[in-house]
Amino acid sequence: MRDQLIAELKLCIEPLLPGYLAIFDLADTKRRNLYLGHEEVDKDILGFDTLLKAHLGKAFKRIGGERWVAFVTENQLNVFDRLILAYQKEVPISAGWECRAIAPNNTLVHIEEKTDVLISRAVRCGYLNIQDINDVAARVNDLLEKIWRLPVNSATSLEQELTFNEPKWKCIIGNLPSTAYCAFCKGTEFEWLEGTDDTAYGICKGCRAEADFVYG
Ligand SMILES: [Zn+2]
Repeated sequence: MRDQLIAELKLCIEPLLPGYLAIFDLADTKRRNLYLGHEEVDKDILGFDTLLKAHLGKAFKRIGGERWVAFVTENQLNVFDRLILAYQKEVPISAGWECRAIAPNNTLVHIEEKTDVLISRAVRCGYLNIQDINDVAARVNDLLEKIWRLPVNSATSLEQELTFNEPKWKCIIGNLPSTAYCAFCKGTEFEWLEGTDDTAYGICKGCRAEADFVYG
């Protein structure tokens, strides 16, 4: 699959060389999925794809869930900042968790801990110079190896070895509610029986209530 995409990209950029190859990576999509749902992240992907088309014509390929490889010439280098800016967005949401619990005596309780936070949308961008069409696959691999460590919202040249010490960027701005706890006894220890990215079901070790958590 990757080989096919690289072959198509090579055909498209060969007449345009030399220039720069860039990887774009939508940041923290896993957490955005959790708080906003898959539909919203699908819209992000479509939105960024549309932006690339508008700015770069055909000189890009989507090479994975939320990653693209793109080519620009020297004169187009400032397009990276325009794409980053056009994609960047912050919206307020209410986020946290809720717990529905059933005590051993069948009493039901539902509690919710949510706070208002901002959720932001951002993209990583790393790029490398390219002169020779035969280097495309190797350059793309170099970029893919490093892209996840890059800061968001700025285009980073990877010509030199860089060191990254900052913690990985998170899309939530603000403080989320505390760890989820049992609706009856406020215990935080459970025997987990089931779970997904945004749900968990288990038995409270404190009071033996069955607790059903939904996060997001
Ligand atoms: Zn409990």
